[in-house]
Amino acid sequence: MAAQVEKHPISSILIIIAMQTEALPVVNKFQLVENPHSPFPEGVPWVHYHGTYKDITINLVWPGKDLTLGVDSVGTVSASLVTYASIQALQPDLIINAGTAGGFKARGAGIGDVFLASHVAFHDRRIPIPVFDLFGIGSRQTFSTPNLLKALNLKAGKLSTGDSLDMTPRDEESIAANDATVKDMEGAAVAYVADLLKVPAIFVKAVTDIVDGEKPTAEEFLQNLAAVTAALNEAVAQIVDFICGKCLPEL
Ligand code: SAH
Repeated sequence: MAAQVEKHPISSILIIIAMQTEALPVVNKFQLVENPHSPFPEGVPWVHYHGTYKDITINLVWPGKDLTLGVDSVGTVSASLVTYASIQALQPDLIINAGTAGGFKARGAGIGDVFLASHVAFHDRRIPIPVFDLFGIGSRQTFSTPNLLKALNLKAGKLSTGDSLDMTPRDEESIAANDATVKDMEGAAVAYVADLLKVPAIFVKAVTDIVDGEKPTAEEFLQNLAAVTAALNEAVAQIVDFICGKCLPEL
């Protein structure tokens, strides 16, 4: 089955984006529409947009606004749930997790840079018992796309995921141990589920804030969000264009 799929051009992709501000430019760019018959359980805030571009079905899923607090459902819990439910319902050939991230300038990241993650891991799941420690870190290689990386001139780097926007000294050590250049709040969770269900996944992360810089992260994040989201949107559009007509091994 897998071999058969690989020989055919990619026909369906799933884009997973945590925040509305990040998702709407992509929705508009591809003229996606919200699915009125959502494949998700009644009452959940998860939103499914879809459309076609050239020969590809594009699905975009945003976990929506928290039902109680009204803010974007960021973080690993919502990310893993929507990844699971979306794969079950939509059977994509490829997942693209796109979003913003914090970057480390000491490792070459700058505001507005767009990274394609070569590896993902968690930095806030510390279980100091043999083997459980590795399970907690959950390091894995992402689906390798050397041609895509080269063609679009994206930066390559490792991504570290945790459920906090800020970074404690203990997190910082783990991020360094993960050899990461960018940090987010969803990537490794999406990767875990995608791996479980054997769907190839790539991670496109645009830097909104410099973690090892002078400015407070939350402030810098909000300041740069709109501009960096435009860069992210552009990168996602180029990636989708590149994917059109290609098979998985050609990426
Ligand atoms: N205050 C923000 C909260 C967004 S949380 C708001 O107005 O809604 C940050 C989101 O951006 C998460 O989805 C995360 O994946 C990403 N992100 C951006 N910079 C980050 C950083 N420095 N650390 C972790 N996640 C970051």
